[in-house]
Amino acid sequence: VHSAAERVLAGLDPEQRSAVTAPAGPVCILAGAGTGKTRAVTSRIAYRALTGDIAGRHVLAVTFTARAAAEMRSRLTVLGVQGVQARTFHAAALRQVRYFAPRLLAGRAMPELLDSKVRVVTLAAAKVGLRADRAAARDLAAEIEWAKSSLVEPGEYVVAAAKALRETPYEPARVADVFDAYERLKRGNGVIDFEDMLRAAVWGIEEHPDVAEQVRNQYRHFVVDEYQDVNPLQQRLLEAWLGGRDDLTVVGDASQTIYSFTGATSSYLVDFPRLHRGATVVRLVRDYRSTPQVVGLANAVISQARGAEARLRLELHGQRRPGPEPELRIFTDEPAEANAVAARCRALVAGGTPAREIAVLFRTNAQSEAYEKALSEAGVPYVLQGAERFFERPEVRQAMIALRAATRSADAGTPLPAAVVEALTAVGWAPDAPPPGGAARERWEALAALVQLAEEYAAQPEAEPGLTGFNEELARRAAQQHVPTVEGVTLASLHSAKGLEWDAVFLVGLAEGTLPTTYAKTMEQVEEERRLLYVGITRAREWLWLSYATARSPGGRARRPSRFLPQLDRSGGGERAGGAGPARRAERRRPQVVSCRICGATLLAGADRKLGRCPTCPSDIDEELYERLREWRQRVAGAQKVPAYVVFTDA
Ligand code: ATP
Ligand code: MG
Repeated sequence: VHSAAERVLAGLDPEQRSAVTAPAGPVCILAGAGTGKTRAVTSRIAYRALTGDIAGRHVLAVTFTARAAAEMRSRLTVLGVQGVQARTFHAAALRQVRYFAPRLLAGRAMPELLDSKVRVVTLAAAKVGLRADRAAARDLAAEIEWAKSSLVEPGEYVVAAAKALRETPYEPARVADVFDAYERLKRGNGVIDFEDMLRAAVWGIEEHPDVAEQVRNQYRHFVVDEYQDVNPLQQRLLEAWLGGRDDLTVVGDASQTIYSFTGATSSYLVDFPRLHRGATVVRLVRDYRSTPQVVGLANAVISQARGAEARLRLELHGQRRPGPEPELRIFTDEPAEANAVAARCRALVAGGTPAREIAVLFRTNAQSEAYEKALSEAGVPYVLQGAERFFERPEVRQAMIALRAATRSADAGTPLPAAVVEALTAVGWAPDAPPPGGAARERWEALAALVQLAEEYAAQPEAEPGLTGFNEELARRAAQQHVPTVEGVTLASLHSAKGLEWDAVFLVGLAEGTLPTTYAKTMEQVEEERRLLYVGITRAREWLWLSYATARSPGGRARRPSRFLPQLDRSGGGERAGGAGPARRAERRRPQVVSCRICGATLLAGADRKLGRCPTCPSDIDEELYERLREWRQRVAGAQKVPAYVVFTDA
């Protein structure tokens, strides 16, 4: 048994080992991305189980996503440890509530669990005299989720929202009314939402000593991964499970807090050492995941962070050998960006990188459509993760119905894009108006994606003209996308990518208004966007691509690059572990931003690396075309304030 435990330790560095072998009691691992936090907690469970200190069946390991939980279970099985419960908060709570329901409900049926609040919120809004469309209902639902996750009751909402500087979708008092009506409606109909389920788990323990005893007898050792994104309701449940005991290991990175809009707070992580006197506190700084170049960019992004979590910032030290230089690419429009990404994915797969080791990450789910299309056309299989499929979005379905209806009334002379805009406007879409609120914006963007599709479709010479042809095209695409793909390039939002890693990562759409989103107004909100970029960069093991388009569609309104991009240029570069070398060496390693003088591709290159041919440049560009391109790029750069580091190297 002990040799198995020794093997667990063999794969760890000294700091990780100190966390793994720490005696029973509070342990806190505070460390940056890719430093082996998840590996360390998994190893701690395995080590303690293999040395006979604990039994696997008494461990509850809480992770953030079902995928992370499954990975932890399979890793423990490989290490020879059985019976550990690795679950999300929701899954653990649901299991407990189901198990005790017959006893606590005295024969009454367990209430049905709402899979989405939106429908009930719409009814609740109507009850208090608000006519909320789907977008408004989604914003209200998000607000109610925040309140409930923050342990705020309807009567306390107005004060709490003011304290938290919430940007409320309606007058705070109105939101409170909807919240109250929503709670009554649910109760009246015998349904519960996700937060109610967590509350029921808490209540079961806090109000029923026999339940508490049984739960606490079952779970004796606790682990929480991604603890920086725990919310007050989840923390309350964790405390109910613990019941004053302290065999708890938490792991997190305040620089990766990306759910504060739903009530998560890194303060539990940050304050853990203070709240648990005598806790073993471990800091890890060696990054095992990414090449030094990727680590350099991650450090550059997070070194600019402001706000509360900045004081906990930990610089990462790359352990791996240098790899390919990260690339920054700028495109004229989103389809061009998506096509280039798809072409590169295909080249990577052809070069031997398995498709499942590649990810395209974006800020909002509405961005996925362009990539789904480009990848399908390039023949690259993909899997959409953690996002509603584009054609299943309610507003897209509604729009398709409206478009079909419009074929009967549209003037045959109207150009297709204009006819589409007209039809969508008729169902409440505003072509130019910046929509208020996150859900409203996503809806707006999904519909904008349809207009863009119409523009592309109309530009094809062989396309059947008019709305009828376009509707058939939409139906064909919708049908094709229902074909499930098992193995493929991951398309995921930055939020759903956390904790995961891939060999090659494409971070796309790095433009102002997308990352940061236009709805990030306060300093705190902008900082959360910065942390999202940090999470994105640190998902890459080998190869990282950053890109944006200067307009959404060809010839469309100009967009500026993300304000975070210029900060990447101040990257400290890929330093190996063992501290900063001589200043001059560090200086030499600083990546330099250079541009291909032919195609204008912007690359980050090590200053000491000789630049060869541009990897993406078509070889048949002649001097005349080059001059035209150069002129055009200079015009674009002048007009749109492309950051200063985008240099145009002259012949
Ligand atoms: P995140 O903050 O993104 O969740 P993390 O800190 O949890 O990252 P892990 O996912 O545990 O990091 O580890 C990152 C990668 O480094 C994994 O591939 C892991 O197997 C590897 N790794 C971790 N520790 C070591 C080590 N001591 N030696 C070699 N590889 C390691
Ligand atoms: Mg992790």
